[in-house]
Amino acid sequence: MLTPAATTRLRRQLGELPEILAHAYLALLPSGAARSGHVSGATRTPPLPCNLTTLDALTDRDEPSIDILESWACTVLDDRARANDWTAWVQLPAIRGEMAASTSIKVLSFHLPFAARRTYATDLATEIAALHHHLNAVARYPIRSARPVRTACPACHLRALCERTDGWRECLNCRTEYDPATYTDHVRQALAELRPAA
Ligand SMILES: [Zn+2]
Repeated sequence: MLTPAATTRLRRQLGELPEILAHAYLALLPSGAARSGHVSGATRTPPLPCNLTTLDALTDRDEPSIDILESWACTVLDDRARANDWTAWVQLPAIRGEMAASTSIKVLSFHLPFAARRTYATDLATEIAALHHHLNAVARYPIRSARPVRTACPACHLRALCERTDGWRECLNCRTEYDPATYTDHVRQALAELRPAA
């Protein structure tokens, strides 16, 4: 079970992974810069003109591997089918073992509200965070996460209100949800109270 803040973080990391993956693969190209490490020559067959430091980082078995994306996507899909939760059920991908990283990321993002409530949610979040961090370190142009803007919550008065992708606002503290119209009403009311009395 993930907290709303941890779920939001995981959703952001999943959303950033396709771009990070692209940057990481682009970093395989030898740059010619001294800091880019060795470039393969006759030592590997066939010789690949690529940055070996980056290649090792992308394929090292000890590091968080890109393969975890598909294994987690399959775990969540199997769990969802077993849980017989038909409300958001989608047809399972026919080909297992050959799911593209982008497909796995889409599956994980789509089923995140379900997966965040399961017992393995913490492990999922930890491994995705490690992969996100690792690939971002490998990429020559690491991306910086935009910090979500948080506003004051009308219910608990803490600055913990975040805008969701569906336009609603959700408090990370008291978990109150506001649809766009209700939130606008609250803002108007707060502004009216701030206005000096005539
Ligand atoms: Zn609140």
